[in-house]
Amino acid sequence: MRDFAQRPDISVVIPVFNEGPNIRLLAARLVPALEQAGVAFEAIFIDDGSRDDSLAELKALCAGEPRFRALSFSRNFGKEIAIAAGLDEARGAAAVIMDSDLQHPPEVIPLFIEKWRAGYKNVYGQRADRATDPKMRTLLTGLFYRLLEKIGDVPLPPGAGDFRLLDRQAVDALLSMRERARFNKGLYAWIGFKSIGVPFEVESRASGESKFNFTSLARFALDGLLSFSSMPLMIWTYVGLVISCFALGMAAYYWVRTMMFGVDTPGFPTLVVSIAFFSGVQLISLGVLGEYIGRIFNEVKGRPLYLIAERVETEIPSPRARGEG
Ligand code: UDP
Ligand code: MG
Repeated sequence: MRDFAQRPDISVVIPVFNEGPNIRLLAARLVPALEQAGVAFEAIFIDDGSRDDSLAELKALCAGEPRFRALSFSRNFGKEIAIAAGLDEARGAAAVIMDSDLQHPPEVIPLFIEKWRAGYKNVYGQRADRATDPKMRTLLTGLFYRLLEKIGDVPLPPGAGDFRLLDRQAVDALLSMRERARFNKGLYAWIGFKSIGVPFEVESRASGESKFNFTSLARFALDGLLSFSSMPLMIWTYVGLVISCFALGMAAYYWVRTMMFGVDTPGFPTLVVSIAFFSGVQLISLGVLGEYIGRIFNEVKGRPLYLIAERVETEIPSPRARGEG
């Protein structure tokens, strides 16, 4: 259970997937940044089923530092779910979410805290450009967000990502949504609250490579689109209507023509083309239904969001345990 008796000001939530060499580098910059801001903090690392020495690194890090804790998942559940787990664990009056590859500079956190103290509850880091990403990814990501802006339920602020500070109220709001197909960028926008962006420069990855390839990004994009828009479901009503009207028109045309001139050619090509086309349309719409139904199935199974295999923390004996209370 969360122990609110010793609530820190800030809980830093950090998903980790095969980031062994980066963990110490991050800690070395994180602690001074938070101390400079003059806040009591805890840092929660979520080892998302890493296959390198990340867990060993985390254990070494947490051993000498009671402000650091780590959870280790039983397997890789994905970054969005790792963030949810970190927020579940967070005890702070606010939470900061950041990547563990040093692309999110810890020195920006004091600026987040300033905005938080000024009353903002959803303070997001806003990246100026995507210069550190591959060109193709930048292009496709741009297209995806433009589409989501057109057909999505909530407007997403441009350049906003996971690097952000959330007030306790916003954290609790986010945690009340236990959906499995998590698209955090949409959820952050959906909860609302007084929001503001803080511009920052994305740094290059300290070491290693991005954990997202084309397929995982495409799946993520589909999650985002289908969780925040029902347009793909509804568009088929209109497509169907247009096609039906067209077919009716065609029927009328052939009827008149046959009445006036009788039957001429057998019309084989028209037949084949229209059958192929309309079968395609039907399969696409079935596929769209399938995508939604698959997600509904996933949600109704009601499985836990994640499983924790191991917890790493340095126990500070409470006064009562020491016989002083
Ligand atoms: N990450 C994770 N689980 C995954 C993939 C990534 O926890 O399945 C973490 C990763 O360790 C990093 C953050 O999510 O801290 C962002 O990942 P990455 O840098 O690979 O993504 P990019 O910066 O390319 O968007
Ligand atoms: Mg990264």
